[in-house]
Amino acid sequence: MDFAFDNSFHDRMDGFYTPAEAVKPSAPAMLAFNHPLAAALGLDFEGVGEADLAALFSGASLPAGSNPIALAYAGHQFGHFSPQLGDGRALLLGEIVAPDGARFDIQLKGSGPTSFSRNGDGKAAVGPVLREYLVSEAMAALGVPTTRSLAAVATGDRVQRERGHPGAVLTRVASSHIRVGAFQFFAAHFGAEHVARLSDYSIARHFPDLADQANPHLALLDRVIGLQCDLVARWLGIGFVHGVMNTDNVAISGETIDYGPCAFVDRFAMSTVFSSIDTQGRYAYGNQPRIMHWNMARFAEALLPAIHAIDPAAVEAAKALADTIPARFAAALSAVMRRKLALEQSEDGDQQLFDSLFDALEGNRIDFTLFFRGLAMMLRGDGKLLESLMPYPDAMASWIADWWERLARETDEPLARADAMDAVNPLYIPRNHRVEAALESAEVGDMAPWLALLDVVRNPFVARDEWSEFAGPGPDDAEPYVTYCGT
Ligand code: AMP
Ligand code: MG
Ligand code: MG
Repeated sequence: MDFAFDNSFHDRMDGFYTPAEAVKPSAPAMLAFNHPLAAALGLDFEGVGEADLAALFSGASLPAGSNPIALAYAGHQFGHFSPQLGDGRALLLGEIVAPDGARFDIQLKGSGPTSFSRNGDGKAAVGPVLREYLVSEAMAALGVPTTRSLAAVATGDRVQRERGHPGAVLTRVASSHIRVGAFQFFAAHFGAEHVARLSDYSIARHFPDLADQANPHLALLDRVIGLQCDLVARWLGIGFVHGVMNTDNVAISGETIDYGPCAFVDRFAMSTVFSSIDTQGRYAYGNQPRIMHWNMARFAEALLPAIHAIDPAAVEAAKALADTIPARFAAALSAVMRRKLALEQSEDGDQQLFDSLFDALEGNRIDFTLFFRGLAMMLRGDGKLLESLMPYPDAMASWIADWWERLARETDEPLARADAMDAVNPLYIPRNHRVEAALESAEVGDMAPWLALLDVVRNPFVARDEWSEFAGPGPDDAEPYVTYCGT
């Protein structure tokens, strides 16, 4: 088994990380292995036994060619600057280049302390590891840029939190782990030269077309802003609440990263928050665009010394770029909503139509996911699903009439529209009550519900025979769903 590692960050970015070592787990056992992802990455584990795989993806044995390191970063956590965070419970094994030429980090998460762990144990528990695996796979299937999960291995060790939990290691695959917080770290502690080096590396790795721009660091800011606008618009389009949009959890690649307290909105409300510690609603569903803007303003600040060093006048341009975010985000969200509602043309009144949709969904507490499937079914002449979602008949009648009128100005046939809608509006998302039940079972050794759910969320758009069982939200009278970080 050969990863053919090519560790560019390790080789070129000395001073931006520290060496790290994995703690040897006492009894590694495979919980889940992502064979399709391994194949897509060009990793061939043919003939490698499960015990050897478990050893490889838990830190028990180091693959040849790996250079384990922990990356340095800082970050604003809930608005407050922490000058030193860093990979406290993760280590980057190395990078591989997939058959299509794309480069990926292979990272172990939960493999023990590093020099950035502070008081943490560097470990992870089975529940959160399998949550990240499941939700990141769901996000990938939903077409949202995201880190992926290659393996989840139980360590055989206990992890002490408010109580003891079985431990696990997640193997995370990302197009890189470079975060806004990394730029903040080097801006705060080292200055323009280091920021420029990190920016140059990021450009070479992710956006080589920017390398010959007059001010590449300014161009990087522009590109990352575009990716973040698009990413958060996609989140809103599927009802995703990230839950901990600290600047250290913002990847410059534009991938969703750090699945901690994330969850999906069911009965719609802009103010939806799941995280137990987000008492102010800073990272609520509807606040995510504003926070993305705020985070990009922090990114701009961190890049400023490097931007300034090339051209002092470009500092004004960087500020002006940050000011374009609300308009760019609005355009990205409009594009998402138009796809959800089968509107090919863009019209002046669309924003109004989308705003009134969010208001009406919230006013009627309608399930966000199923509503769009219900609309498509209605286009096919079947109003049952839509009716079943309404608190009273005709609850959404006036909005639906507006949409109907708007659709009449489109050229597609109704059935083609319904198909186009079903291709972007999922029937299956990781429903909160199902995720919880699957993780509870997994924690006591029964992986069957988790595997069944994984299979469902990997194919989110096509109805199955038992579709209603997996498609619906939890019971109406359930307690509000609460999620936790850092377990
Ligand atoms: P997060 O809330 O996951 O974004 O993590 C914030 C910071 O805390 C990062 O620097 C993590 O590496 C660190 N961290 C989180 N959990 C642990 C842990 N169990 N042990 C050590 N460091 C941790
Ligand atoms: Mg994090
Ligand atoms: Mg985390």
